[in-house]
Amino acid sequence: MTDDNNQSIGLFKKYLGNNKIFKNREVLRHSYRPQILPHRTPQIDSIAAVLAPSLQNETPSNILIYGKTGTGKTASVRYVGAELENAGSHMNTCCRVVHLNCEVIDTQYRVLAQIAKLVENVDATASDRMKTHIPMTGWPTDQVYAELKNILENAGGVLVIILDEIDKLVKKSGDETLYNLTRINSDLEKSKVCIIGISNDLRFTDFLDPRVLSSLSEEEIVFPPYNALQLCDILQQRADVAFVENVLDEGVIPLCAALAAQEHGDARRALDLLRVSGELADRGGEERVSDRHVRHAQDKIETDSMVECISTLPTQSKVVLYAMLLLNKIDQKVFTSGDVMRLYREITRELSLETLTHRRVTDLISELNMLGVISTRVISRGRYGRTKEISFDAATDRIWDVIMNDQRLVEHRISRYNEEQAGKLFR
Ligand code: ADP
Ligand code: MG
Repeated sequence: MTDDNNQSIGLFKKYLGNNKIFKNREVLRHSYRPQILPHRTPQIDSIAAVLAPSLQNETPSNILIYGKTGTGKTASVRYVGAELENAGSHMNTCCRVVHLNCEVIDTQYRVLAQIAKLVENVDATASDRMKTHIPMTGWPTDQVYAELKNILENAGGVLVIILDEIDKLVKKSGDETLYNLTRINSDLEKSKVCIIGISNDLRFTDFLDPRVLSSLSEEEIVFPPYNALQLCDILQQRADVAFVENVLDEGVIPLCAALAAQEHGDARRALDLLRVSGELADRGGEERVSDRHVRHAQDKIETDSMVECISTLPTQSKVVLYAMLLLNKIDQKVFTSGDVMRLYREITRELSLETLTHRRVTDLISELNMLGVISTRVISRGRYGRTKEISFDAATDRIWDVIMNDQRLVEHRISRYNEEQAGKLFR
């Protein structure tokens, strides 16, 4: 490297990693698609068995897949989908697979338009000029639906539509989309449609019309959580590619696997732990990844997800949290909801915000407790009844940082509520 070069990367140099830890960090990301999925052979085989008729131009049954996050649903379905398209092209049959993430594509209009767009894109025979390009908004739904049918008829063959995170679609827009899609075959002559719904939420079928449910769940496949040993295998496979040889202490993979298995057998969490552990070692300029890094990674991931939760809280919850932070600052390390209420009332008045009732504030406090931001403990005070003691579990610095992203609260803190004044209230 020339001096000139060295200078131009100066700012970033110390963050670039020394390549002593990682060979290929990308392999540890969620988006990476491994070619072999250990411990999912039964599920993969079941999906393949249901889809196989499409290679003989017959309509496969619809499938509903359930399982908690990180149990390999998306990875397995994508794998089978790719294999099906591959087999189709070898057998000269027309099998197409389109994958929609309903967390993003969450209305009937967008689902139909997106399917149309994906089908036209994979169809190499349709020239660009012939494509319809349904706009992403604006048409009446009937027109979008009719156009989608045209596109499917022109394409012919079997189309497998994967609706990933289908529970989000149903929660946002009801089951009308599924009602229409599960009936589309009766309107088609030259083509056939099969739907695979994937849900993280086992109870989402409560929101479905029984007719929609019975047609969507012609086949049901469950993805159980992974146990610690299975997670070890999954991590080992990725680690072999991701890390430089022999940089992982012996205990690292089993520890990541055990922690993720305690959570709910989530491969995503296990991979995050392993990746962040490696990053911590890398940034610390260390040569090896140890159990200590895994513990540290666990704390970091938990704090990060809590910080994200707090930053999306509604204003009233932030004000309640702000009041609790002030209490903590003035050395009231343990306080009651009555204490919070007194301070909260002051703050809302000064900020000209609506003041919620004690009952509502207590609900918000319970929510913050469930998010793990604070912890509460019910104690008995003899004949005075029972009260709830509230406190922060850990250091509050990160929480302050997030709360201080709210400009009104920053100004409030600077102008009205320095610790001294808040302290007076409780003397
Ligand atoms: P889900 O869709 O059930 O939430 P994903 O399929 O997205 O889970 O899996 C989460 C992450 O874990 C992905 O990076 C995926 O590659 C990985 N993963 C899950 N199961 C396996 C497995 N059996 N083998 C290898 N990697 C897996
Ligand atoms: Mg998924």
